[in-house]
Amino acid sequence: MAEIVILGGGVSGISAAWHARRAGREAVIFEAKERWGGLLDHFCLDGYRFDNAVHFAFSSNDDYRAVLEMSEYTIHKPEPFNYELGRWLKHPVQNNLYPLPAEEKVEAIKSFLERPERSDDPDYGQWLEQQFGKWIASRFPGRYTEKYWTVPAEQLSTAWIGNRLYRPSLEEVLFGAMTSRTPDTYYLPEMLYPRRGGYRTFLEPLVEGLNLQTGKEAVYVDPQNKYVEFQDGSREHYNYLVSSIPLPELVTMIDAFSTSVKEAAASLWATSVALVSLGFSKPKAGDHLWFYIYDQDILPSRSHAPYLKSADNVPADCSSLQFETYFSRHKDLALSGDQLIDHVINQVERLNLANRSDITVADFRVLPYGNVVFDRGMVERRNYVLEAVEKFSILPVGRFGEWDYLWADQSFLSGKKVEKLPFMV
Ligand SMILES: Cc1cc2nc3c(=O)[nH]c(=O)nc-3n(C[C@H](O)[C@H](O)[C@H](O)COP(=O)(O)OP(=O)(O)OC[C@H]3O[C@@H](n4cnc5c(N)ncnc54)[C@H](O)[C@@H]3O)c2cc1C
Repeated sequence: MAEIVILGGGVSGISAAWHARRAGREAVIFEAKERWGGLLDHFCLDGYRFDNAVHFAFSSNDDYRAVLEMSEYTIHKPEPFNYELGRWLKHPVQNNLYPLPAEEKVEAIKSFLERPERSDDPDYGQWLEQQFGKWIASRFPGRYTEKYWTVPAEQLSTAWIGNRLYRPSLEEVLFGAMTSRTPDTYYLPEMLYPRRGGYRTFLEPLVEGLNLQTGKEAVYVDPQNKYVEFQDGSREHYNYLVSSIPLPELVTMIDAFSTSVKEAAASLWATSVALVSLGFSKPKAGDHLWFYIYDQDILPSRSHAPYLKSADNVPADCSSLQFETYFSRHKDLALSGDQLIDHVINQVERLNLANRSDITVADFRVLPYGNVVFDRGMVERRNYVLEAVEKFSILPVGRFGEWDYLWADQSFLSGKKVEKLPFMV
């Protein structure tokens, strides 16, 4: 029997075990996959390393900064771009309209001036119009929402926004419409990335010495008798259970929940991410560390350049790009496997990033859980489920355990909540 059983070996589970050990407690992590790291893991193909989607490190939290400081890293200045209809616009678009035709800039500014009054509890669609005016809202973030969140903005709440979307003044909108010499207004001043080994390298010092068992997928939890059952038929008893596995999945593993809890859990949904990763036998593939794509006929909504994050991610004189296409229970993946790869390669040529003949590696894979979706009323339904889970003395942690839009550092801090388990006060 383990004192603390932790389900999931992503950053939140690792953090929980690490904090427990620091407090002198015995914890064991059970991870379903053969490797630890979760979303912060990577895969390698013929000398090209790809993280699971774009991943940079940033944090204003001292504890997580201390973790990052344990590895050698490169500091990147974020200079994201936006691609739309053959044009490249600096990010964020709302105060970087310069490349647009004059007629469109006039429309954008007129509608910015006429933006509706702020209202209480707007949906995300209304919120966008209140911030940017109808023209910008529908042309850029509105269309992006349908690609990234897979539903129209009107179906989302605003609970997840935080500082993620820049809200410019009129002066900034006007300035950005007249010149490309705009100041950086991205919400992060810098982002860190390990010199070697991909994002996961940052977590290695935490994992050292932990009891972490891989290939152990939890399939059943009996919170009354305090044990977890695994796919391989084994059982582990615990005093305390910490779960970073997706909240709706945890609920299906426990018989004792009421129908209303089960229904609320079943109503929670997340986007999935189809990754197309390409390696090129030439040293450059476009100019951008990462960029967003607004065109509806281009399936991916975002692309990043692993070789620009670190030269260690590619063989010498080579480059790489990875494209993210989002889908969900509300939007099918229009193309899959080789068909999506082919579609992406066509876009790579269309955007003049590289040629088909430069490609040495092409890979398709799916991350089943990408972003938890804040459709309207989700927060209340999720909190209802979390309350029921906690009544069974299970501590939910991490992006999918807590069912929240957490960055890696926030997931790490979520794992730190293990310190609040009763025996640690
Ligand atoms: C596209 C994308 C881009 C991102 N970019 C950034 C970024 O640039 N910077 C940043 O800070 N954050 C970023 N994030 C967020 C970051 O990835 C997460 O906050 C963090 O990785 C979540 O860690 P976690 O441990 O909570 O979850 P996970 O990493 O998902 O770990 C959960 C683990 O549980 C395991 N598991 C699931 N079911 C079971 C089971 N039944 N039994 C046992 N184990 C199970 C899974 O295999 C997984 O390893 C991004 C996220 C996405 C989706």
